[in-house]
Amino acid sequence: LSKLGPSPVTEYLRDVVADLRSVEGGAVNSSIPELANADPATVGIAVATVDGALYQAGDTRHEFCIQSISKAFTYAQALTDRGLDGVFEKIDVEPSGDAFNEISLQPDTGRPSNPMINAGAIAATSLVRNTSHGTRMERILRLYSKCAGRRLRVNKNVQAQERRAGDRNRALGWLLASRGIIEGDPTGALDDYFGQCAVMLNCVDLARMGATLAAGGRNPVTGERVLEPEVVSDVLSVMSTCGMYDDAGRWALRVGLPAKSGVSGGVVAVLPGQLAVAVFSPPLDRHGNSVRGVAACERLTRDLDLHFARTE
Ligand code: GLU
Repeated sequence: LSKLGPSPVTEYLRDVVADLRSVEGGAVNSSIPELANADPATVGIAVATVDGALYQAGDTRHEFCIQSISKAFTYAQALTDRGLDGVFEKIDVEPSGDAFNEISLQPDTGRPSNPMINAGAIAATSLVRNTSHGTRMERILRLYSKCAGRRLRVNKNVQAQERRAGDRNRALGWLLASRGIIEGDPTGALDDYFGQCAVMLNCVDLARMGATLAAGGRNPVTGERVLEPEVVSDVLSVMSTCGMYDDAGRWALRVGLPAKSGVSGGVVAVLPGQLAVAVFSPPLDRHGNSVRGVAACERLTRDLDLHFARTE
């Protein structure tokens, strides 16, 4: 990217957005009013590099709720708090091929297959510690904010909507408690999970969060070390096998970058050591991934040669 300089990159992204606007198909998620009311025409794309550069086009200031993209970052906080072994004891790292909200725990151990499906994500939230430096929710929000480089907020109204629509997640929480994966009453962890899904951000914030991962845990703009490099490499590894719901295999083939998507229509893809791409566009494919988000990442990986398995 640096070879091209800033203005050609921005022009390129404008072209991409113009082409994306005519990509049809998909449907906005209707699980909560906040998502059901999203404007399907919104499209934004932002690229943030590890040296702090930012390129953007389209509706990049439009705010949306982070939804499942939160799972990657909360997993990072759980790894920070408990270490890989402490987390692995409770959450496996195998792609499940199941839908994100599948009611499934491994029969022998009771562990969720991975932290990117709801069962594993709720377990990961429960592993984030309440400390004298803040409650679990405060610490989760602080991590997201430090990765983004600005103070993010929980939309309490969206959190309440998640809570109202949350029977299936509550069932998962109690199932996790029954197997000792969550110790004690899961209600608090569930409420924090609903809260983390309701953190509001825009495409630029999401690209900056991805760039912090790309930079091994140091925010490229603020310079602050937010996560340890070992934690980041574990998170990126799990994103690369489990980050795109039950489309992770095809994604690896077509895009070849660790990524995470959410049902609000956001996607963040990370090229370690280089950059992150964030796309927002609400209509989703049958896997729950943003139709235009997937199309944009396929195009960027092709045009800019980002696939990890490229050999020339
Ligand atoms: N709040 C949603 C849920 O837990 C998140 C879903 C998602 O983005 O995949 O059902």
